[in-house]
This record gives sequence, structure tokens and C-alpha cells, in this order.
Amino acid sequence: MSSTGEKPGKGTYYCKKCGQQVVLDDYDDTLPPCPKCSHTEYGK
Ligand SMILES: [Zn+2]
Repeated sequence: MSSTGEKPGKGTYYCKKCGQQVVLDDYDDTLPPCPKCSHTEYGK
């Protein structure tokens, strides 16, 4: 599991609450709050 502010690396993550997909395309990208519901926990 990853949370907002972490840098989990490239990949696709899914909001644990609403399932919104967030794509990180750079190793330096940090996970944002979910753009849909502002939740902060993601699964892969
Ligand atoms: Zn969400």
C-alpha cells in the first residue's frame, strides 16, 4: 500500500476508497491526494 506524499515509483495506483486510477510516470513523482475523493491511500 502507498500513501499520498510517497514516491512509490512508476506505475498505476488505485485509490483504496473509490478506485480512481492514478498513474505515476516518473520515479520522482509523489502520489497526490485522490483527484476524485481526496483519499490518501492507494493500492496497486
Ligand atoms: Zn478516491
